[in-house]
Amino acid sequence: MKILFPLLTLLLVTSALASDYTRVSDLKPARLSGPVKVTTTVNMVGDLARVIGGSRVNVTELMGAGVDPHLYKASARDVRRLQGADLILYGGLHLEGKMIELLEKNRKAIAVTQGIPNSKLLRPAGGFDGVANMADPHIWFDVTLWKMAAATTRDALSAVDPARKSVYAQNTARYLKQLDALDAEVMSLMKSVPQKQRVLVTAHDAFGYFARRYGLEVRGVQGVSTAAEAGTRDVQELAKFVADRKIPAIFVESSVPKRTVEAVIAAAKARGHTVRVGGELFSDALGTAGTPEGTYVGMVRHNTKTIAAALGGKK
Ligand SMILES: [Zn+2]
Repeated sequence: MKILFPLLTLLLVTSALASDYTRVSDLKPARLSGPVKVTTTVNMVGDLARVIGGSRVNVTELMGAGVDPHLYKASARDVRRLQGADLILYGGLHLEGKMIELLEKNRKAIAVTQGIPNSKLLRPAGGFDGVANMADPHIWFDVTLWKMAAATTRDALSAVDPARKSVYAQNTARYLKQLDALDAEVMSLMKSVPQKQRVLVTAHDAFGYFARRYGLEVRGVQGVSTAAEAGTRDVQELAKFVADRKIPAIFVESSVPKRTVEAVIAAAKARGHTVRVGGELFSDALGTAGTPEGTYVGMVRHNTKTIAAALGGKK
């Protein structure tokens, strides 16, 4: 019985978590009269669809630069854009916390994270978005995991538009090589930061995967989701950590209000430690289309360079 009990609990937890979302293998070829109409939630998934689909896709993004996916609610216009799509691509893992029902019930909607093995997912102690044992959805900051999202995107497009399978395969193969180079670049920049300064303090815990892959310690003032507001105690605890460790810089994020980070800076100052804002990181949204940070590769590069420079690494 001693062994059986934890086993039973595990089984119950696992079955409660298994949700009825659409798998790539469930997709059917679409009746196409032109490019594949792809609707995405966050803009990094839009970027992925554009890179892999090339001229064969017409991408509509529901969430642009600076938009927080954790809090985003679909408008009537969004619902129409979802209905009109040949394929919907979204982050999944409860990234789009308020749109889960809408996305998981849709037979054309694919979570690009669905191919990532369970063993590669981070499971924060307190769960995520109020769901116990829920994984951290911010997988794009580990470039090797984003490669898996690219493969899922390729497979989804190939299922919907099988006639262009080889085009999607070629575009993906080229992109995966680019991502390998990016991964190596991030690794080398982070290694240039002195060991004791490899600490990343940001507005919310979006950088857990980045930290694991590239060897940093990470602290966020707001928890993994932005849905929970940071309390005074969180701010004080983080300020103490920053002051004790003499961390030179902490970071603001493009899609999260700056006030929590400013509160930590003020509280650290009250403890006699001056910490500065190391720059703005893109966390849950790419920058504006047409700027270098408007692509996934450009966004990761911007973040990495900003972090390395502010923490005493290569400029
Ligand atoms: Zn987030």
